[in-house]
Amino acid sequence: MTFSPPPQTSDKAAASEPALVDPFGRHVSYLRVSVTDRCDFRCVYCMSEHMSFLPKKDLLTLEELDRLCSAFISKGVRKLRITGGEPLVRKNILSLFKSLSRHLETGRLEEVTLTTNGSQLAKFAGDLRTAGVRRVNVSVDTLDPVKFKAVTRWGDLATVLDGIKAAQRAGLAIKINAVALKDVNEHEIDDLIRFAHGEGHDLTLIETMPLGEIEGDRTDQYLPLSRVRADLLERWTLDDIPFRTGGPARYVTVRETGGRLGFITPLTHNFCESCNRVRVTCTGTLFMCLGQEDAADLRTPLRASPDNGLLFEAIDAAIQRKPKGHDFVIDRRAQKPAVGRHMSMTGG
Ligand code: SAM
Ligand code: SF4
Repeated sequence: MTFSPPPQTSDKAAASEPALVDPFGRHVSYLRVSVTDRCDFRCVYCMSEHMSFLPKKDLLTLEELDRLCSAFISKGVRKLRITGGEPLVRKNILSLFKSLSRHLETGRLEEVTLTTNGSQLAKFAGDLRTAGVRRVNVSVDTLDPVKFKAVTRWGDLATVLDGIKAAQRAGLAIKINAVALKDVNEHEIDDLIRFAHGEGHDLTLIETMPLGEIEGDRTDQYLPLSRVRADLLERWTLDDIPFRTGGPARYVTVRETGGRLGFITPLTHNFCESCNRVRVTCTGTLFMCLGQEDAADLRTPLRASPDNGLLFEAIDAAIQRKPKGHDFVIDRRAQKPAVGRHMSMTGG
């Protein structure tokens, strides 16, 4: 089943909408959309083993997600990242990619990208490429099948690696995302570099962020990337480069492989001053900052009227509340996560 995108008139009417600029002068041009809170993995740093998920009726329909994304595009958003939960487990998700591709054709949108755990990528890669996707981020924290199972609880490394191969064959550029985890992949970063760069992929390392209640103690998982970088420098030559993908990663080239390595360091180096993005959940809740609780309900204005007036007002008001930054800290004194929601709600 597919759905028809909303009439073009609503997009045209909004073409003159003023751009989104927050009180600190930052232009919001990047929207991350979590299309589901569900997932076929249960990564230890992301979810608790026994998660309760939202009732399906609370979720925005794919038509509503399209309308919401289109409203942001008419307000100057140039990049969309579809994430989750696991976006590819949402029923009929391909139709959303297909309908959003009209904004790529008009040139109002620069790119639609996807963050995925790769479990369904073998099935979807070709169709994603046809729908205009050119880049995907695939999360692979370890290349050891036993550790992979332990970290993801339900995942299978071979399936994910097949998915990556399929994406490569389909012509998608691939970035491997790995969360740096003490005692798990701490001594495997060299292998991840060799694997990713050997296949022509970028690799980005991410610090664990204190989001949502999980079973373990986050201090046991947390591995500062400043330490990883210092360790890597003993064996590799890292050259800083100005390359950016619109996200918060800061990149180096690894001279020995010629590949790119990114560091996302919300804890050791706060990157908020250049933040250009906001996130919307699958229920239409807009988070202006990943690390703060303040949020705006966009589902009510979206459903209140087929006209986008109320929705634009709600978006404008929310952007005026975008905070200067987050204040993540991971230490043993802080017993609670910085924010109660899980990463799977707002997406990575
Ligand atoms: N399921 C998809 C995936 O795993 O790529 C997309 C959603 S997932 C929430 C997006 C990214 O967030 C993944 O790379 C994941 O490793 C990362 N992530 C999840 N929880 C995190 C946390 N607490 N701290 C840092 N990164 C986290
Ligand atoms: Fe699922 Fe991605 Fe969270 Fe892992 S990180 S549990 S794959 S949403």
